[in-house]
Amino acid sequence: MVEGGVKMKEIIEKFDLEKVIEEFESLTQDAENVQKETLKRILEGNASAEYLQSLGLNGRTDPESFKACVPLVTYKDLEPYINRIVDGDFSPILTGKPITDVSLSSGTSQGKQKYIPWNDELFETTVKIYQTSFVFRNKEFPIQNGKALSFIYSSKLSQTKGGVTAGTATTNVFRNPGFKHAMNAFKSDSVSPDEVIFSPDFHQSLYCHLLCGLFFREEVSLISSTFAHSLVYAFRTFEQVWEELVFDIREGVLSNRVTHPSIRTAMSKLLKPNPELANLIHKKCIGLSDWYGLIPELFPNVKYVLGIMTGSMEHYLKKLRHYAGEVPLLTSEYGASEGWIASNVNPKVAPEFATYVVLPQIAYFEFIPLKQLDGTKVELEPVGLTHVKIGEDYEIVLTNPAGLYRYRLGDAVKVIGFHKSAPEIKFLCRSNLMLTINIDKNTENDLQISVETSSKMLAEEKMEVIDYTSYIDLSNDPGHYVIFWEISGEASDAVLYECCTCLDKSFVDAGYVSSRKVKGIGALELRLVRKGTFQKILEHYVGLGSSAAQFKTPRCIGPTNTKVLQILLENVVKNYISSAYN
Ligand code: AMP
Repeated sequence: MVEGGVKMKEIIEKFDLEKVIEEFESLTQDAENVQKETLKRILEGNASAEYLQSLGLNGRTDPESFKACVPLVTYKDLEPYINRIVDGDFSPILTGKPITDVSLSSGTSQGKQKYIPWNDELFETTVKIYQTSFVFRNKEFPIQNGKALSFIYSSKLSQTKGGVTAGTATTNVFRNPGFKHAMNAFKSDSVSPDEVIFSPDFHQSLYCHLLCGLFFREEVSLISSTFAHSLVYAFRTFEQVWEELVFDIREGVLSNRVTHPSIRTAMSKLLKPNPELANLIHKKCIGLSDWYGLIPELFPNVKYVLGIMTGSMEHYLKKLRHYAGEVPLLTSEYGASEGWIASNVNPKVAPEFATYVVLPQIAYFEFIPLKQLDGTKVELEPVGLTHVKIGEDYEIVLTNPAGLYRYRLGDAVKVIGFHKSAPEIKFLCRSNLMLTINIDKNTENDLQISVETSSKMLAEEKMEVIDYTSYIDLSNDPGHYVIFWEISGEASDAVLYECCTCLDKSFVDAGYVSSRKVKGIGALELRLVRKGTFQKILEHYVGLGSSAAQFKTPRCIGPTNTKVLQILLENVVKNYISSAYN
């Protein structure tokens, strides 16, 4: 990791806003050649890998030979190779240089964590993409000085029995010595000491992040997290603990809810009694109506709120806007533990309409037209980065420098346009997360629209859906959709019953509607869960080694995700059956 740190320092020393933009324009202008070069670099660097050798590439690095020799794969296909790495086989299996670190993917989608090979090259792509997003952001929302209140949390780091270090991808980024340089250069240096970020308990971290933010409230110029979920979670927590925070500031002592010695020591260096600040925050909090505009009240110099806000994060935008008042919400980048994909170069566009430009130098990309995934096509034929068509939907396939070749990421995107010759894409959904019983096909995006439509009735009662997920119940014939909701407040049965019927009607997929009409699918069921249920789900994943920073509520619980299903089922307080199509 030291090597990455040194390279990072060099990048930062040469860091020049105009040059980064020039480089971006030139790379996107020549995306096709840049892709060829990127593939060549990856294949040459890993020519000695057993995996590539076994496929007969024989040193060829052109896209045509690559596609002819190397198959499209999913995680399952690579699992035997990755397991050998994790078990301590340091021969060149997937990469030329041995892999000594892996990222644990959050596993929120399929309920099973994946080990993804991690190396310095992936860290460098992280810096590249942060840099690109930063320069475009800074053009529109300049920050001269200042600090970031970043709700970031490292996961537990563990050693596999083969001696490989395993942490989440974000943890691998945070612990790289280059990370601090990067954050400094991108005006995103955290107000919190490292001990808070690397705390083994994310609740204690969160409390201290809030406390540090309040201490440095005048200096906070941006508020960020990896995913928007953590931002909303942080301010919901603030609503509950603000009096305790004010007490700590007044007395200059740290609440005994923070027990970890390293955090207590680090925080004690910051904490001094400050009754004036305590009074100010107290006054601001009691002066707010339903916490509207909390962010600018607490942080008067904040320029924007930043994090991934698209896809399954869109649900949290409403609440985040409520907290942010007039402060703009900016969506950041698009990527995965497997590698970065695209940057937001139009930060002024609202997250609901945001697109991301694929960076042609960070990985080799292919795109499978979604129409080919309807089951009729025997052999899939992905197209290259510059050959995608505007308006078409695709599944992303990536080849990265850390041993993934033609890897199906499982994300569906829509091509909205081009920046020079690089596609500008909109995230659609996870392509494998599907509510389906027979001929119906509803994606997580369809589910989100349905939840959004029906929750308008709750909004009229000044309530909201805190979080939601779904499940296909096949225990009776016909099977039916079950939607779990955790809501704020106490809604009447009549309202919830209407919400349930509205949920059912809002799935407009022709297969669903026709199946519902002929009773091939049973009436949709809305199950209300106790307050705090989704927090239990988050804690379940954190307990498995995920980082709270990378948490994404799984929007559809598969039958193998038994633990999460159990948490949900144990917490159901009421259920409602739709009367649509009666
Ligand atoms: P993980 O590696 O498990 O933390 O999650 C990566 C996944 O998060 C991606 O495959 C996407 O499904 C989702 N994701 C990441 N960035 C974005 C984004 N900008 N918009 C929507 N979804 C995203």
